[in-house]
Amino acid sequence: MNSAYLDDFLTFLRFPSVSTDPEQKHHVAACAEWVSAKLRHSGLQVEVHATGGHPIVVGRNEHRPGRRTVMIYGHYDVQPADPLELWEAPPFEPRVVNNIVFARGATDNKGQILAHILGIGETMREEGELPVNLIVLVEGEEEIGSEHLEQFLTTHREELRCDLIAVSDTGMVGQGHPTFTYGLRGIAALELKVTGAATDLHSGIYGGAVANPAMALARLLSCLHDSEGRIAVPGFYNGIPPLESWEREAWAKLPFGDEEILAVTGAPELFGEAGYTSLERTWARPTAEVNGIGGGFQGVGTKTVLPREAFAKLTFRLVPGQNPEVVMAKVRVHLLAHCPPGVKLEMTGGHAGEPYVTNPNSPDGVAAQRALKRAFPGKEVALIREGGSIPIVNTFKRILGVETLLLGLALPDCRAHAPNENFPLENFEAGIRLNRALLQELARLT
Ligand SMILES: [Zn+2]
Repeated sequence: MNSAYLDDFLTFLRFPSVSTDPEQKHHVAACAEWVSAKLRHSGLQVEVHATGGHPIVVGRNEHRPGRRTVMIYGHYDVQPADPLELWEAPPFEPRVVNNIVFARGATDNKGQILAHILGIGETMREEGELPVNLIVLVEGEEEIGSEHLEQFLTTHREELRCDLIAVSDTGMVGQGHPTFTYGLRGIAALELKVTGAATDLHSGIYGGAVANPAMALARLLSCLHDSEGRIAVPGFYNGIPPLESWEREAWAKLPFGDEEILAVTGAPELFGEAGYTSLERTWARPTAEVNGIGGGFQGVGTKTVLPREAFAKLTFRLVPGQNPEVVMAKVRVHLLAHCPPGVKLEMTGGHAGEPYVTNPNSPDGVAAQRALKRAFPGKEVALIREGGSIPIVNTFKRILGVETLLLGLALPDCRAHAPNENFPLENFEAGIRLNRALLQELARLT
């Protein structure tokens, strides 16, 4: 490992750039300045843009006609380090143990974005210039929902015009196994409140004469799925294209599946929509989940109460072909139609994000696969989707009109967002190689 690179990495990790914490605001700003200096040192022209929140750093080389324009996106902010007592060493005092760097932000996203920045610097020093027109955008609010990014992209749409975006902030299927994530699920939230009598009632005096909202809620929730794990909302699956046979074959060959999911989750057995494997269920099929449920007496012992209300918090993971608004309208109609007598149902929509899929076998996708192979020689590239949601990818598509290649370097046990977050130096070095190979491969498509 180049010791200057390691020094840079450790310095970057020492900034407690926790975007959600107002007390760290000056550290977040100092971290943005450090990133801008690093980009400048890599040979780019850099501007630090103030926003209503934390700064956005943008670096670019000299753009020339006839070359492709590539944007690399990442973030310098991190999640809070709590719970501190579960860290084996202080989260902002990075340690290297067995060639693995431990610190908050090591994987998410400092190690990954710094690898790109250092890769750019290497190419500039060795070749004198980059093979593409490059824009590097590093923001400081990713962990709090990228609040000011959308406005920034809109205001600066012209300067940020590009042919595609590359992001390293997703996972790898295993150590040394290059991974290209080409799909993400969307999300839509809905809160249900079922109310009955004007106040809590004595269940001996009124029980049997007045409907019980907790029971009504249970009946409502039970109508979301059939016994085979399928979502029972009419039209819920409309518009979802069937999984391609190459996807099913490729995923079946991955080095993990039901057995590993069973081991990691500790569930007594796996259960989901009939006709699909666990990877298919989590990556390419929609879900309806109850995230929280409440109402009535929650204390120790018994209380003979007929609660006046009950609530449930739901989220739906959505897949390409589904539109959050259209799907949620169907869900509301279904729930209203099944609302038992004697209670009132109120529904409140929450946040929503569109699903995303890009073609991993498009010319850019194939170029990215070649770059991943060069970064991890001798290994086949895993083509996967992920079950989570990364809303900025759709924001990029909507405002800049371009696809995003998700070429992540995070390992399954990287502990992002958790105590003892870590990133192997091997992945850090692979990230530097990936950046160099990616820009070369994309330039070949000119
Ligand atoms: Zn994160």
